[in-house]
Amino acid sequence: MGYVEERARALMERYAVGEIRIPLLERTELYQRSTGETSDIVSKQMYTFTDRDEAETTLALRPEGTPGVVRAYIEAGMDRSDPEQRFFYSGPMFRRERPQKGRYRQFYQFGVEVFGRADAACDAELLVMIDDLRRDLGLQFQLEINSLGCGKCRSAFRTAVLDYGRAHFTELCHDCHERLERNPLRLLDCKIDVKLAEAAPKSLDFLCAECRKHFDTVLDLLKSAGVEFVINPRIVRGLDYYMRTTFEVTSTNLGSQNAVVAGGRYDGLVETLGGAPVPGIGFAIGMERIALALEAAQTPRAGLMRVALIALGEAAARRATELARELRALPLQVELLSTERSLKAQLKRADRIGANYAVIIGADELARAAAQLRDLGASAQREVSLANLAAELYPARRD
Ligand code: ATP
Ligand code: MG
Repeated sequence: MGYVEERARALMERYAVGEIRIPLLERTELYQRSTGETSDIVSKQMYTFTDRDEAETTLALRPEGTPGVVRAYIEAGMDRSDPEQRFFYSGPMFRRERPQKGRYRQFYQFGVEVFGRADAACDAELLVMIDDLRRDLGLQFQLEINSLGCGKCRSAFRTAVLDYGRAHFTELCHDCHERLERNPLRLLDCKIDVKLAEAAPKSLDFLCAECRKHFDTVLDLLKSAGVEFVINPRIVRGLDYYMRTTFEVTSTNLGSQNAVVAGGRYDGLVETLGGAPVPGIGFAIGMERIALALEAAQTPRAGLMRVALIALGEAAARRATELARELRALPLQVELLSTERSLKAQLKRADRIGANYAVIIGADELARAAAQLRDLGASAQREVSLANLAAELYPARRD
């Protein structure tokens, strides 16, 4: 996971997105007002507790990053003074759900939020960003995209889904019976009544001319950037604040918990939380799931070549300490093994840590200012002078 975060951070630098650090605790009310009372997150997954004060404030362990970022953005007055901002955050989120592979009660998200940009090019830029990360990691993703439209299109669509749900009430699952009146769009998310959800009204049929144009522009830009996608009318997302573009990314390298990124546009959210009417859009990456996908894909990582440095005897150990420093500066990844163990035990350790090379210095080698260079992949060994060691090792790249 550390590796994924490193790559994502490097990508942020290329996209001119700066880091924001947000608290783990916020008032529960923040999530009720943004994520929404009827969302699964707020209605059943949040960890909340009462603060130690007379006002009985309730606090929540953050279940997602967006509300905290928006709160901080407004609190800093940026919505009025300098609305166009690009942030990323990285850290743990908490949700009380049934733990299983790829689903945990504490999990890590890496998210991006852009404020002050209503144009379709911004939606496309974020999707290209996700595709860049995918490429960098050597994974296969599927991008599913939809548009919910603006407040106007959304309310006509909501009514149509509500009517549809009422007409098919007896066929709905138990959860959908509850969802119907409170949050009808969630019907489309239903994992049980898939057929019923597929036949439901589609938000794309309710888009006004402007929302239609926005969506078409996003798709055009994706095509010209060479990013593949499929339109999926069922991507409504469970949260209240989404409008226009919504998307989910799944990884074909994973089994059941295969959603790795999700996001969308939330143009009304800053205002809902008491700020100026500033548009926004963002996404969150599920870091454990990306790490699992990498494991499943067994894609080789770009990284430093690994060297196990083996010294036999006190004098060799002294020289090896110095040598380790020189090699790390190249840079190579160097582990100086325990000089108190036998050569055999040290070679075993070298194998165990997946070293590409072992550099062995015994008393004889030391006297000749040389070392045995052992290629652990090819099991070949030869003597090289210490003066040439760096040059011998450094150009040899890991496969
Ligand atoms: P899911 O449908 O899998 O429950 P979600 O729609 O609840 O996902 P989001 O709230 O959109 O997920 O979060 C974005 C990403 O965070 C998800 O695509 C997923 O990769 C990851 N994620 C969400 N919940 C968990 C969890 N409990 N454990 C691990 N990763 C998670
Ligand atoms: Mg969920």
